[in-house]
Amino acid sequence: MQISEIYKSLQGESTYAGLACVFVRLTGCNLRCSWCDSEFSFYGGKKMTVQEVLEEVARLSPSGGFVEITGGEPMLQEREVIPLMEQLLDADYTVLLETSGERVLSRVPKAVVKIVDVKCPHSGEADTFAMENLQAIRPHDELKFVLTDRADYEFACSFVVSNHLAGRVNAILFSPAFEKTASGARDTSHCQLDPQQLAQWILEDNIPARLSLQIHKLIWDPAAKGV
Ligand code: SF4
Repeated sequence: MQISEIYKSLQGESTYAGLACVFVRLTGCNLRCSWCDSEFSFYGGKKMTVQEVLEEVARLSPSGGFVEITGGEPMLQEREVIPLMEQLLDADYTVLLETSGERVLSRVPKAVVKIVDVKCPHSGEADTFAMENLQAIRPHDELKFVLTDRADYEFACSFVVSNHLAGRVNAILFSPAFEKTASGARDTSHCQLDPQQLAQWILEDNIPARLSLQIHKLIWDPAAKGV
């Protein structure tokens, strides 16, 4: 499979934020979200076998723990990424899959925690979510909406309510998009949607969503790779 990078850091998002995790980033994506922070992974990388990836994960985290499969869009390499996830599970890792929601997820091993994006209008990739994925969602999974403004927020609320998602997943994440060009900055003024404003809307509307900040961008330079 084509791998962009493998590294160990703290999980920056989701309900696993703050925990040590090995990230396996696969090369390639078929979407082009306006706020994408991993465009470097669209091309390049190096070919690795499933066995080589497993060995690198074991070197970075020899005694189990969390492994996140991410990208790019990892499910574009489904033929190899599913055996990789199965073997990581067999080796007692907790496996997280970060995915755009555009690929069909029904063949992902059930024990994998899927963190699935639903693209909002201002991502530039609205309507790419494969609605059949709502059938593949399990109680331990998480749904993520990256928001840039009120219109994105209203789309996300409507999607949650009309698809009766409250209580169906471990978390519904509402995450303000970070400025793509932010560099050196480490504060929430670089969020495209003010987290304080988003918090207020969530409270006013009683939406069962969790405000999710990308903590790795507050800890390290937002432009830094491998963190
Ligand atoms: S799906 Fe993810 S990797 Fe692909 S363009 Fe959107 S944010 Fe970037």
